[in-house]
Amino acid sequence: MSNPQNNNVIIACQQLGKRFKEGRLDVEVLRGVDLQVHAGEKVAILGSSGSGKSTLLHLMGGLDLPSTGHVEVLGKRMDQLSDTARGVLRNESMGFVYQFHHLLPEFSALENVAMPLLIRGMKVAEASAQAADMLEKVGLKERLDHKPAQLSGGERQRAAIARALVTRPKAVLADEPTGNLDQGTAEHVFNLMQGLNESLQTAFVVVTHDLQLAAKMDTVYRLADGVLGLA
Ligand code: ADP
Ligand code: MG
Repeated sequence: MSNPQNNNVIIACQQLGKRFKEGRLDVEVLRGVDLQVHAGEKVAILGSSGSGKSTLLHLMGGLDLPSTGHVEVLGKRMDQLSDTARGVLRNESMGFVYQFHHLLPEFSALENVAMPLLIRGMKVAEASAQAADMLEKVGLKERLDHKPAQLSGGERQRAAIARALVTRPKAVLADEPTGNLDQGTAEHVFNLMQGLNESLQTAFVVVTHDLQLAAKMDTVYRLADGVLGLA
């Protein structure tokens, strides 16, 4: 861990189970996952396709609730909060990055990154200044006015990371953020996340297929047969 003296637990998963039951379909995806993510820790989660990695991230982010067990974020149990309170906790403490960037096509990089701040009620001038600052941190200082279609794949993911970080979350949950990029660009994006982790002390939980990239993180887990173990 980059900051081993810091034992602050940001996200704690206890005996998480998740079962999807719809009609004749009944799949038990997770059966007893335990995981703690500490402040500033970089965690990689490996696992074959369909092993439940996205499901686990959704539960950690409070986007879905477990069938058994529970998730605590900053000491609060997600399942004991109202939907509204859970949404607030999520927005205040976490950022999300996906395989496909989810940037809004009609807005510039600056506007996309400023959006989470504007939604929180920040004034446009201040939000734009903070968004520009975060875009500079991800190396996109010269791309503020570019729309997503005018950016390369790697630049779009960097903008998506800036958007996830602009609210200064305690943790960023990234679901195969480099899955759509070539190896060199993927490595560049991973190096960027490492640099940001060091300067901002943000925890990163990154789902990836890439063993070499995962090895850059502090802790590497593998999800298999519904349980999580050290890889
Ligand atoms: P991964 O991200 O590791 O590829 P997922 O978490 O997306 O895996 O999915 C794990 C398993 O759970 C798959 O078999 C998938 O079909 C199933 N699953 C995921 N979400 C749902 C859902 N909303 N309803 C039913 N089954 C689901
Ligand atoms: Mg997935």
